[in-house]
Amino acid sequence: MSSKTNPVPQIRGHYTAGHEWIPAGEPTLEVHSPLDGFHLGGVPIATSSTINQVVENAKTAFEIWSTTPLKERVQVLFRFKTLLERHLVELADLIQVENGKTWTEAKAEIDKGIEVLEFATSLPQIWNQGLLEVSTGVSCQYERYPLGVVLSIVPFNFPAMVPMWTIPIAIGCGNTFILKPSELVPLTAVRLAELFTEAGLPPGVFNVVHGTRETTEYLIDHPGITALSFVGSTKVARMVYQRAAHLGKRALALGGAKNHLVVVPDADPEITAKNVVASAMGCAGQRCMAASVLILVGDTGTILNQIVEEAKKIRVGEDLGAVISATAKERIEGYINRAEAAGYKILLDGRGAIVKGKEAGTYVGPTLIEGVPPGAECACDEIFGPVLSIIQVQTLDEAIAIENSNPYGNAASIYTSSGAVARYFSERANAGMVGINIGVPVPREPFSFGGWNDSKFGHGDITGMDGVRFWTKLKKITTKWTASASQNWMS
Ligand code: NAD
Repeated sequence: MSSKTNPVPQIRGHYTAGHEWIPAGEPTLEVHSPLDGFHLGGVPIATSSTINQVVENAKTAFEIWSTTPLKERVQVLFRFKTLLERHLVELADLIQVENGKTWTEAKAEIDKGIEVLEFATSLPQIWNQGLLEVSTGVSCQYERYPLGVVLSIVPFNFPAMVPMWTIPIAIGCGNTFILKPSELVPLTAVRLAELFTEAGLPPGVFNVVHGTRETTEYLIDHPGITALSFVGSTKVARMVYQRAAHLGKRALALGGAKNHLVVVPDADPEITAKNVVASAMGCAGQRCMAASVLILVGDTGTILNQIVEEAKKIRVGEDLGAVISATAKERIEGYINRAEAAGYKILLDGRGAIVKGKEAGTYVGPTLIEGVPPGAECACDEIFGPVLSIIQVQTLDEAIAIENSNPYGNAASIYTSSGAVARYFSERANAGMVGINIGVPVPREPFSFGGWNDSKFGHGDITGMDGVRFWTKLKKITTKWTASASQNWMS
């Protein structure tokens, strides 16, 4: 049995909320818990006929949902929020079992999802569409409309939070929605669908379609789907964005990352050490906001030693969860092997980590690699594991040049007690999200989430007001009611 006490729900098939489950009867992919190898079930891979059926359901639902008043639509979101809070423990258990992260991390991602949900419940308050009398008796006004059936393709690393970046805003705006979860973590998405049904969401408004690459491509190409968001690796994000854009569909694709933390001599040693380690090792390094490169500028005193000591305190399997699969573990350890072979110093080695009683789990311990040159593989590639590459430079400008030259652009942070240094860095960092004395600078709502460069394809961010703009289209209405209105070229 799994290490968790709650029974793991069965993966019954694809979901179109309120309708019957669409029975799988399709080829399945077997999934196992990264925690201990427990068999979680088979994920059905949707066939074209299943997808066609789900899209038809979503199209039918759109007719009614898009014309339901916004204030009524958000009532479902309020009820959904209550249900998420009520089922928080169960959901965190589920995330932990299928993703392998710690329970605290699992809970934290639900909390962040709820924050986006709260933003979406305020849609009626922020909907203000603007009206202006543009000449005497003539007014122009904006009206916002939903797009239709929309698609969200999500990665394995946040089974609840990343879907929740898009679901509440897109649905709140009046779209009907198809979620394509990662085939590695199919369970949380299904539970979210069930809770939506319990919250009173009409049939077909929220749907879950499981599958892999082919499923995703069929969904993207489907003429019934008007817009899509993607979150995942840069390679796939670029392909998905290009594929959707080629079809004239609105798309936003968030990709991978390689985030730099810069430490200057006046940084607070204790705060910095704790924060750097939390950023690099949290969620076993499987966060698009995780620190991956540490750049020490000049003489930073005991900070590196303190970082090593902090990282050594981490108990694998307790404070540090599993990585998603044996393949991921092998990939991460491969990076460490090659860094060692290249002559860089492995200050702390997480290879071969085994958790007693969970020998079939896939764990990598915290790893610190020192003496890494800026162009090294481990300093440039997204490793997506609990591995921090450490570079020493003499000046802040050198550090900024290294950060600027990386092709990604999700996050960059500086540790300093000088406001001027912080400002100098934040103005020059080539990233969409900058941290000052904070290693995971995820903006809190209503500030929007989104990186730059190869970390994002498409315009705008995925949450906040940008989310509202992305999931809606504007109509501009010009009105003249009175015959006495002033005459101009368009009269
Ligand atoms: P992935 O790119 O392998 O998969 C993401 C989704 O795309 C999954 O649902 C998968 O089934 C589907 N997919 C995979 N290959 C595909 C293909 N060729 N065509 C169409 N769809 C395909 O990503 P992952 O391994 O699940 O997640 C980890 C990656 O996600 C990391 O690179 C991480 O940085 C990134 N990520 C980015 C953000 C962000 O906000 N920028 C957030 C979370 C994760």
